[in-house]
Amino acid sequence: MVRNIQLRTTLLEESVDDILRKKASKYLGIPMEEISAVNVLRKSIDARKSTIYFNYKVSVYINEPAPKNKEYKFDYKDVSKAKKIHIIGFGPAGMYAALRCIELGYRPIVLERGKNVKDRRRDLKAINRDHIVNEDSNYCFGEGGAGTYSDGKLYTRSLKRGDVRRIFENLVFHGATEQILIDAHPHIGTNKLPKLVQNIRETIIKYGGEIHFQTKVVDFTIVNNAIKAIVLQDGSEMQAERVILATGHSARDIYYLLNNKNIALQAKSFAMGVRVEHPQHIIDSIQYHCKGQRNELLPAASYSLVEQVKDRGVYSFCMCPGGFIVPAATAPGEVVVNGMSPSKRNNLFANSGIVVEINVDLDIHKYEQHGALKGLEYQKDLERLAFTSGGRTQTAPAQRLTDFVEGKLSNDLNPTSYQPGLKSAPLHSLLPKLIGSRLRSGFTAFGEKMKGYYTAEANVVGVESRTSSPVNIPRNENLEHPEIKGLFPCGEGGGYAGGIVSAAMDGERCAEAAVAGF
Ligand code: FAD
Repeated sequence: MVRNIQLRTTLLEESVDDILRKKASKYLGIPMEEISAVNVLRKSIDARKSTIYFNYKVSVYINEPAPKNKEYKFDYKDVSKAKKIHIIGFGPAGMYAALRCIELGYRPIVLERGKNVKDRRRDLKAINRDHIVNEDSNYCFGEGGAGTYSDGKLYTRSLKRGDVRRIFENLVFHGATEQILIDAHPHIGTNKLPKLVQNIRETIIKYGGEIHFQTKVVDFTIVNNAIKAIVLQDGSEMQAERVILATGHSARDIYYLLNNKNIALQAKSFAMGVRVEHPQHIIDSIQYHCKGQRNELLPAASYSLVEQVKDRGVYSFCMCPGGFIVPAATAPGEVVVNGMSPSKRNNLFANSGIVVEINVDLDIHKYEQHGALKGLEYQKDLERLAFTSGGRTQTAPAQRLTDFVEGKLSNDLNPTSYQPGLKSAPLHSLLPKLIGSRLRSGFTAFGEKMKGYYTAEANVVGVESRTSSPVNIPRNENLEHPEIKGLFPCGEGGGYAGGIVSAAMDGERCAEAAVAGF
């Protein structure tokens, strides 16, 4: 017999296996000898009160053996001679579109402007150390897309959009730890992601797919409102009938291209703000009610904050405990910050985007002349402002949190994880009022919710501008662009995803749509 039950342990109860068996025996009123195994299905931390608990959902096997370790299998077949589906972009959406094509018996031909994960590292070094931004190889572009050098947080709210478990099992199949199937807030870490992405590449090639790096798509040939070919930067053309466009939200050239070709696009609401960085021990002490070091059984603490300020949401986004702030610009002349962390989340800083909802219909009238691209132009202007106020390099403008809220220039700044460095700047007056004033009220409210959060020991760093796409590429019920037959807008760039897992699920759905009737 198998019984699924909820158990909890405290930090003092160390040997988890034994403790869970003892607790299961007591809870079910069954002698320990009759319990052959206790398998953990889900684990979360409850730190709401001063005693911290681990909550477990477990399967208890009574007088029957537990199943052997599950093998995660996918029905990949040789597609080397099959019909071709072209996929532009090898981020999570493109990768999972390609894998799904193989399962469905179609041959994915992937075109990716960036480099493979290994060669991409050099360009990340160049942006961090020498302030040089390569427009095709950076924290957003290259093998694995924006998800590779990230935190690898896998939490998603898009549960209705697809099978989250299937994506997680596929990540395990490609080398992620099984822990991601159990943790309530799973993450992989930037040190583990490149190998995983490489394993996905190897699966695609092994079964007959093709991946072309440093291959940038610059145009489409469209005849009678149907895709006929993809035009590459070297001028060559590739015949293509079904194209999954998974170029991410930073591929502005793709939005300009579609707009110039009069292909319908829509402006979409999005969010922008700053990244705030605290010493990790401050967040630990608030969340775990401790002084000094957190208990070694506990992971670096995270937080999630939200506040309504003057009819707009102000909220934390992509919080990275024990992580680093990174320069995520995709072109020279702009400063964009984002966050990532290693699997152990053992860096000394906790950073998070704190952003303000921007309603494109109500908030940015000055940009109306840009039509569907008004949000994008607004985003660009803010990134340029960050560049000039940061000193025209990848050095980012920053302020102590308390100075930002009180409207004072900071005489000096706190230590930071941001490698290109920070420059003191009056972000409180530089940011548009729409964002700046709401952020200031938001931070004050967050300080009330988390005592100790509002501190001079934290920096705010500008700007966090790439939270989601400011443009939507429309699609019909078949996930095809309503005006262009054979074009399937996909993932975050289309406006259909907001993170690694939702982009991966959308990639699978687009692959299914692209092969339908082909
Ligand atoms: P992308 O990942 O943006 O991939 C698009 C790909 O298309 C890129 O590789 C790009 O090079 C390629 N491309 C663009 N234009 C062209 C062209 N013209 N020709 C050929 N190729 C092209 N999300 C989470 O869920 N958890 C996290 O912890 C997390 N951390 C992040 C940390 C950082 C630093 C960043 C930048 C993002 C993070 N995100 C995180 C967001 C997440 O990475 C994205 O939501 C996700 O990668 C979107 O997937 P995508 O495939 O739609 O697009």
